This record gives sequence, structure tokens and C-alpha cells, in this order.
Amino acid sequence: MKIYYEKDVNMDVLKDKTVAVIGYGSQGMAQSRNMADSGLDVIVGLRKDGDSWETAISHDMPVMTVEEASKEADVIHVLIPDEIQAQVYEKSIKDGLKEGNTLSFSHGYNIHFQYINPPKKVNVTMIAPKGPGSTVRQQYLDGFGVPGLVAVEQDYTGDALQVALAMGQGSGLTRAGVLETTFKEETETDLFGEQVVLCGGATELIKAGFETLVEAGYQPEVAYFETCHELKLIVDLIYQKGFAGMWNDVSNTAEFGGLTRRDRVITDESRKEMKKILEEIQTGKFAKEWALENQSGRPQLNRMRAIESELEIEKQGKKLRKLCGLEK
Ligand code: NDP
Ligand code: MG
Ligand code: MG
Repeated sequence: MKIYYEKDVNMDVLKDKTVAVIGYGSQGMAQSRNMADSGLDVIVGLRKDGDSWETAISHDMPVMTVEEASKEADVIHVLIPDEIQAQVYEKSIKDGLKEGNTLSFSHGYNIHFQYINPPKKVNVTMIAPKGPGSTVRQQYLDGFGVPGLVAVEQDYTGDALQVALAMGQGSGLTRAGVLETTFKEETETDLFGEQVVLCGGATELIKAGFETLVEAGYQPEVAYFETCHELKLIVDLIYQKGFAGMWNDVSNTAEFGGLTRRDRVITDESRKEMKKILEEIQTGKFAKEWALENQSGRPQLNRMRAIESELEIEKQGKKLRKLCGLEK
């Protein structure tokens, strides 16, 4: 494993170079402001009719169209939603790429699954913060940074890695450490993590636990606190001190009960499904499904969003978060 810190970065690779950040959302806003505050020459590329245009101007960022920014800059850092990147690349970025430019991303998706096929004459790199944009910005302002991942898919100039690391330094990531990976590894593990553990797995576990208690006649408010609210406290402990620290902080009863029952919840069957889900990611089956879903106007996603918003746990949560002052 290779991990890079500030001392490993040569900021000179970006001297006299302009970085265009395409998009000013969660990541675009944070990374462009951090890089600009770090002294890099940053411009923001946006569409004129969107909301971000005015927001970026109000932050004193130099704003131009995606076409203009891509033509003007030496490094084009694409931070718009993954599912529209290919289309914006074809229409507004591709023709602005010059020999020796760097095409950069914070997620490997479109390069790895070949929705974007850059010319040979450019570097293709990734610098990806391991945290949402708001944290990337706040940690930077606090004098620190979130950890990051760096990868080089195409090294035309011979210093592509240094270009990506210098951008990471500008965003504050090398203060915490930047791990080297590949587009393939970052893309596949990111999708697996969000599907199986972080977003898909966690919500289904919470939902199943909540519904089991409610169906057995317990008060939904009590069920909510046990299966959802308290999860954050446990995850915080694991995040700070590992499993051992968490087991140490909960009661001996919780430790014994948890250790003797957990593999009845996540069973061999579940692990088999995890492998299948990983295979769907690796073979590109998932990416195809998501592309098709987008092409047909997202019928599945819209249907599932409607169902999700009607869940009993969501209604209980909204009410209880308000009562506890967690949500207005
Ligand atoms: P957002 O959804 O926050 O991006 C929204 C921005 O994209 C807005 O500024 C929007 O402008 C702009 N945009 C949308 N459509 C267009 C268009 N057609 N032309 C020009 N600009 C457009 O994206 P994220 O920041 O969440 O993600 C960006 C990248 O970062 C992705 O690759 C993602 O995987 C990666 N990433 C995201 C993380 C996160 O925490 N969110 C973490 C790590 C990586 P407008 O106001 O005009 O609509
Ligand atoms: Mg992701
Ligand atoms: Mg308890």
C-alpha cells in the first residue's frame, strides 16, 4: 500500500497551470474553493441556466461555460453527477482537450466502464476525497483534510500522478493522507460498499429490525430508537476505536448477545448474495442496468423513492427527530 503526504507532493507541476472544475455541487464547490484558497489558479465550468452559476459567482469564483473552461484550462476536473458526465464530456469537454492536458475525476465510474474514452494525448487521473463535500470544505478550513484516493489511468506527460497529488494537496487531502489505487479498484469497491454495506445494507438492516419489533406489538417510537437512532452511537464507537472499543463500551450482555447472534442475521446466504452483487459490478451488469434506467427516465428509481418515503420508520423518524430537536 502506498500513501502520500504533503512532503511527497511537488506543487510546481501546477505552476502556471489552470485547473477547471466542472460542476459546483457537493464536491465541485468544496474542491474548487479549497484549491483556490491554496493558491492554485482555479476556474469553474458550468451551464448558464443552472442554479450553481450564481452561487459560484457569489463565492468570487471565476465562472465560465463548460466549453470555455475546458478550452482554457490545463487540468479539467469533472465534478458533475456521474450519470451525466459522458454526455457533457461529448458535447462540451472533449473538443477543448489539448495535448498534455489532464482529464481528472473524483470517481472512476465513467472511465472504468468506458462511457468516456479520452484521447491518448492526455493524462487521465483521479483524486477522490473520502468524504462528502461539506466535510472536505470544513476540514480544510479547520486546517486539516479528509483522506483521499489517487489513481492514474493514463500517464501521457510522465508526471500525471504528481498532477493528481498536487490537486489533492490543494484540497487538503494530503494533510490526512492519500492512498494510491486504480480506477478499477476504486470504482468496484465504491459501488460494492454503497450497495452492500453503507447505503443498501444498512437501511435494510435497520428497516428489518424496526419492522420485526413493530409487528410484534412494540411501540414504534421505542423501536425507532433501538434500531435506528442508536446505530449512530455504535458506528461512532467503531469509527473511533474499532470493534474492540465498541464491545468494551457496551454492556457485557450486549457483547455476548451480539457475538452469539450476528451470523444468524448476516448468514452464509447473505455472503453468497454479496459475492453475486460484486460479480454484477465487476462484469458491468450493474452499470448497464443503471444506464438503461437513466435512458428510460428512471422508472424503477422513481417507484422505489415513492415507496421509501411512505415507510413507517421514516414517519416515526421524522416525528421523533423533531421532538428531540435533531430536525426542524
Ligand atoms: P453534484 O450532484 O453535487 O453535482 C451538481 C453540480 O453539477 C451542480 O453544480 C450542477 O450545476 C452541475 N451540473 C449538473 N448537470 C450539469 C450539466 N449538464 N452541465 C454542467 N453542470 C451540470 O455532484 P457530486 O459533487 O455529488 O459528485 C461529483 C463527482 O464527485 C461524482 O463523480 C461523484 O461520484 C464524486 N464524488 C462525490 C462524493 C460526494 O460526497 N458527493 C464523494 C466522492 C466522490 P447546476 O446548478 O447547473 O445544476
Ligand atoms: Mg459512490
Ligand atoms: Mg440497548
